[in-house]
Amino acid sequence: MFERLDNRVIVNYEVVTLSDLHIGGHTTTEPADVDNPVIKNADSYPIIPGSSLKGVLRTEMERLLRGLNMDIKVCDIFISGKDCGGCNKCPVCKLFGGNELASSIRIKDATANSKKTMVRDAVAIDRKKRKAKDGGKYDTEVVPKGTVFTGICIIENTELGKCEHAKLGAFLSLLNFFNECSGSIGHASSRGFGEVKLNVKGINIITAQDYLDGNYTGKSYVPDSTEYRELKNNAVADWSKYIKSGKYD
Ligand SMILES: [Zn+2]
Repeated sequence: MFERLDNRVIVNYEVVTLSDLHIGGHTTTEPADVDNPVIKNADSYPIIPGSSLKGVLRTEMERLLRGLNMDIKVCDIFISGKDCGGCNKCPVCKLFGGNELASSIRIKDATANSKKTMVRDAVAIDRKKRKAKDGGKYDTEVVPKGTVFTGICIIENTELGKCEHAKLGAFLSLLNFFNECSGSIGHASSRGFGEVKLNVKGINIITAQDYLDGNYTGKSYVPDSTEYRELKNNAVADWSKYIKSGKYD
């Protein structure tokens, strides 16, 4: 946690599946009747864990910053397969957290708007032998194309290096980049699974002053409004200014 809370930004987001999606995990309800179930919440709705989305977005941000040709030192949290947790100093750690640094961006689980899932056959792979198992097939549960998941993301203290909404700008522009350039999550994306689109449905900014005034929802920004566009443009400009400043500590 941060010692000082200047503002808190709540981003309402949705994930729309453009192909079947499989994110596996142990269900919290009764034993599964398929070999490879999707992860669900206690009410049997499929979910996308916030940690999965965060992992994908962090990796994307690392690649982007390394690609900038600006000699930005971006840490690799998986050094020789071991998670070192992050250097605490690079821009990626400033956003997603480091070894001793709280994450500025917290993504909560997204929940599907429907319980509907389907079962697909897949060839069972023996992990040790790396070939098809004897007797062949196992069932994989998927969330069908067209499912909408909704969730929230919380960004605390959006300022970085005196650039007011730099963290928000980083997050919003990253979503755009993700949608344009990769857009897949979960396992087996190579088999045409896991194509998704991430959309922002609304942003609320709550300042410490709002809290004092009893305005606990702060100010709302609705996509496609002029105010939203201004906020986004300014935030993206703040992020760009921060990165170009070269001062990240
Ligand atoms: Zn780092």
